[in-house]
Amino acid sequence: AAAGGGGGGQERILVSVRLRPLNAKEKARDESSDWECINDTTIIFKNSLADRSMAPTAYSFDRVFRCESTTRQVYEEAAKEVALSVVSGINSSIFAYGQTSSGKTYTMIGITEYTVADIYDYIQKHKERAFVLKFSAMEIYNEAVRDLLSADSTPLRLLDDPERGTVVEKLTEEILRDWNHLRGLLSICEAQRRIGETSLNETSSRSHQILRLIIESTAREFLGQDNSSTLAASVDFVDLAGSERASQALSAGARLKEGCHINRSLLTLGTVIRKLSNERNGHIPYRDSKLTRILQPSLGGNAKTAIICTMSPARSHIEQSRNTLLFASCAK
Ligand code: ADP
Ligand code: MG
Repeated sequence: AAAGGGGGGQERILVSVRLRPLNAKEKARDESSDWECINDTTIIFKNSLADRSMAPTAYSFDRVFRCESTTRQVYEEAAKEVALSVVSGINSSIFAYGQTSSGKTYTMIGITEYTVADIYDYIQKHKERAFVLKFSAMEIYNEAVRDLLSADSTPLRLLDDPERGTVVEKLTEEILRDWNHLRGLLSICEAQRRIGETSLNETSSRSHQILRLIIESTAREFLGQDNSSTLAASVDFVDLAGSERASQALSAGARLKEGCHINRSLLTLGTVIRKLSNERNGHIPYRDSKLTRILQPSLGGNAKTAIICTMSPARSHIEQSRNTLLFASCAK
C-alpha cells in the first residue's frame, strides 16, 4: 500500500486476499486447490509446471488468509483498525472484491457485525462522550442507486452539497437504538436484495451494496451547545459486484464496451484505487461513476481503506483468480 499523501507515511490502503475452501460442487468434480498461502503475506500458485501461462506464481500483500482462516481473523487482522478509525473521526471504507461465489458477502456480513459490536463496546467505555449512530443502506445496479431500507425502489438522485459533498437524496437514515436494531435492519437489506435478485436476474452479482454507518459524538460537557465540538465520521462496508463483470467488459472490445454490459462503477473504482495508491497528486476520477461519487469521502483525503479480495482455490476459476490477484496487486 502507498504511503499516505502528507499522511505521515501511514498505510492508507490495506490490501488482503482471502482464499475460501473448495465448495461441495468443486469437491464433487474432484478439483484440487491450486493455491497455497506459504506465510501471512504470500500466496503462490502451486502448479506452475502444469501451467504454460507466463503469469507470476507468487503474490504478496499486506495479509493473505488461507481457507481455514475464520472471518473473525480476517476482521481482526485486515479490517478492524481501518474500520474503527471512525470512532476518532476518520472516515473509512472496507471493500470485498472478487468473482461471484468467491465469498464476498460471507466475509462482509461478518466484518460489519464485528465492527458494530466493537463500536458499541467502545461507546460503553467512553461515557464522557455522547454518541449517535446512524445507518443507511443502498444498492447500485446499472448506475441506478436504490435505498435498501425503503420499499420504494425509485432510483435516488445524487446531489452536490457545497458542505457535505455528494449526498444521496432521500436516502433513509436510521438512528440506531441498539445492536438488535442493527440486526433487524441488516435482515431488511438482505431481503430487499433478494427481491431484486428474482426480478432483475441475479442482481447481486451485478450490483454493489453499500452499508454506511455514521458516528457522531460530542463531549457531554458540550451537549446542547453549538455543534462545533461534535466529531462525525462514517465507515462504508462495500460488497462489490462480481469482478467477472469488469474483466468481461475489459476483454470484450470496443463494440461491447458501448453497450450496457460494462460495469462502469467497478471499472472506475479500479482506476480510482490504483491512482490513490500510486500517484496521489494526479486527478482522481471520482465523478466518473455513482459508486466512486458516493464513496469519495471514505476513499480520499485522510480516509482509510481496506480491500479484501476473495478467491476460489479451484482450477476451474484460475483465470478469475488471477484477475483478482492482479487487481489486488494494483491496489497495493
Ligand atoms: P459472493 O458474495 O462472492 O458471490 P458468497 O459470500 O455468497 O459469495 O459465498 C458463496 C458461498 O460460499 C456461500 O454459500 C458461502 O457461505 C460460502 N463461503 C464463502 N466463503 C466461505 C468461507 N471462507 N468458508 C466457508 N464458506 C464460505
Ligand atoms: Mg454476494
